[in-house]
Amino acid sequence: MGVTATILASDLDRYWPLDLRDPPGVFTQWRIRALAASPDQCRRVLARSGVEVRAASPRPLVGGCGYVDGVVPTAASIALDAPPAMRCAMAAAVAAWERRVVEPAALKHLGSKLAEIRHFGSYSCRNVYGRATGRRSQHATANALDVAAFRLADGRTISVLGDWSDGGARGAFLRDVRDGACGLFAGVLSPDYNAAHRDHFHFDLGPFDICR
Ligand SMILES: [Zn+2]
Repeated sequence: MGVTATILASDLDRYWPLDLRDPPGVFTQWRIRALAASPDQCRRVLARSGVEVRAASPRPLVGGCGYVDGVVPTAASIALDAPPAMRCAMAAAVAAWERRVVEPAALKHLGSKLAEIRHFGSYSCRNVYGRATGRRSQHATANALDVAAFRLADGRTISVLGDWSDGGARGAFLRDVRDGACGLFAGVLSPDYNAAHRDHFHFDLGPFDICR
């Protein structure tokens, strides 16, 4: 990552434009992460991919909290709940996940279209697990999103808290959307990780790769 990835990613985008509607490939996760270093390119990728957003008011970085490249999705399933301001690259990863992972999984397992993704938000100035000391959470830079439930077009709601241990279609759907997230985000934590995640999936584009 870093400078090399930034140069390669912008060159690559000229010859091989990233469209978040395309099926994720082996480079998709790497290319989304590279967008974090280039907000302008990130906004171009969102526009090209038909992801509607508005710019969020910047929160200059103070004490490890804040962001300058925040966007707010305005027309996606994630936007029906209180639309979260996220770093642009996170919004790109969320858009790809919604379209390429969640929507197909809802049709496959539950036979319904996705209507709404319910979440616990993105930006929060705090440390990991809200501890008084230690490193900042990825939420402190709007580089993370916590997803709690999915409402389907037929009216059903599938929640991480209520359906993760379901042995049928609901549980299979949730495991599919978790597993698919691992190909797009860097950090993916589910109830399999620990009790703190019993009621939500945590997704981030932070420095650590984890898929649990
Ligand atoms: Zn989280």
